[in-house]
Amino acid sequence: MNFNGTEFDTYFKNYPDSNGYFGKYGGAYIPDELKKAMDEITEAYFTICKSSKFIGELRRIRKEFQGRPTPVSYLERLSNSLGNVQLYVKREDLNHTGAHKLNHCMGEALLAKYMGKKKVIAETGAGQHGVALATAAAYFGLECDIYMGAVDIKKQAPNVARMKILGANVVEVTDGLATLKEAVDAAFAAYMKEYKDCIYCIGSVVGPHPFPMMVRDFQSVVGIEAREQFIEMTGELPDAVVACVGGGSNAMGMFSGFLNDPVDIYGVEPLGRGTALGDHAASLTYGEEGVMHGFNSIMLKDENGEPAPVYSVASGLDYPSSGPEHAFLHDLGRVKYDVVNDEETIDAFFTLSRMEGIIPAIESSHAVAYAMKLAKKMEKGSILINLSGRGDKDMDYIIEKYGIR
Ligand SMILES: *Cc1c(COP(=O)(O)O)cnc(C)c1O
Repeated sequence: MNFNGTEFDTYFKNYPDSNGYFGKYGGAYIPDELKKAMDEITEAYFTICKSSKFIGELRRIRKEFQGRPTPVSYLERLSNSLGNVQLYVKREDLNHTGAHKLNHCMGEALLAKYMGKKKVIAETGAGQHGVALATAAAYFGLECDIYMGAVDIKKQAPNVARMKILGANVVEVTDGLATLKEAVDAAFAAYMKEYKDCIYCIGSVVGPHPFPMMVRDFQSVVGIEAREQFIEMTGELPDAVVACVGGGSNAMGMFSGFLNDPVDIYGVEPLGRGTALGDHAASLTYGEEGVMHGFNSIMLKDENGEPAPVYSVASGLDYPSSGPEHAFLHDLGRVKYDVVNDEETIDAFFTLSRMEGIIPAIESSHAVAYAMKLAKKMEKGSILINLSGRGDKDMDYIIEKYGIR
């Protein structure tokens, strides 16, 4: 399929290019010392991860440990309540640890093992990436250092406990505002010192090359499974595919299965409290080109050109940029990026719980909310939603802030 001059038959061969670019987005804007470490990972990725031994082992782990393939479920009651459009969800909430993040963490940690590394390092904000990586490290017997701001450590006590139970070393970062940004800086500084013995595991399709490519490839299992399952269930392709976009890993995993198909693809960003800077985290919708955290993409900037403060009711979506491949697909027009606000999201959270017996993560509820709006507009056809995770982690917050509706 050709879309605005871009061939999607050969897309994965051509994007990213050998320097990690998707068009003008991507790359590796990092100090030389770190560049060496990234080049080592890139080379290992192309030799090790393409070997039949690695692929075979990852396939076995996905089946026996993660519980893959995760099913696709038809949402009969919700579909009927909205009209004539049929809604389906890809159940990443049923992946071990309750979200899609383990898909790339198991891949990254297996690569670390094959490279002979003893340790994995990462930062975490809300703690979801930290828990997924700590799980992978425990499985492979790797040491695991998770850098986390002191403020976040206080806020996210259950995830901190999970990481510690799994044997990870949670490193408290007290610099500056002591949140995610400082944790990223501290983790990269530690990695520069220790890179011979460890690898840095990025938590989404962001950061310097090769991570946007590698994380996409590990997540592509979601789209490959979902496409096959959907065709088996219905005999055809969905008319539309929908996923929420923070850094963009669950969305890239799902979208990669459908880029070469005549399917409308929608990435849903968090509009939060509204359109004012600081009230949302809809970087692709409202942002502009810029470099942060080692890659060129579309980002939300403050008046000094620095990453702007962002807000979302879903802590997994409050990032001031998105992966470079999303910026590329945005400019091409192959994926349409749009927003839903907090209110619509919470409404979808309760609706899916009540009508289908599935409690979604607040992040995933953004995709559900958008699909519900789209279903009313489409009149007929089908929509496949990526349900990136389950809502157990959000219970206390929802009850405290919104009560039972
Ligand atoms: C972390 C997280 C997200 C956001 O991350 P992406 O890289 O944008 O996929 C979405 N949903 C859930 C359940 C998460 O835990």
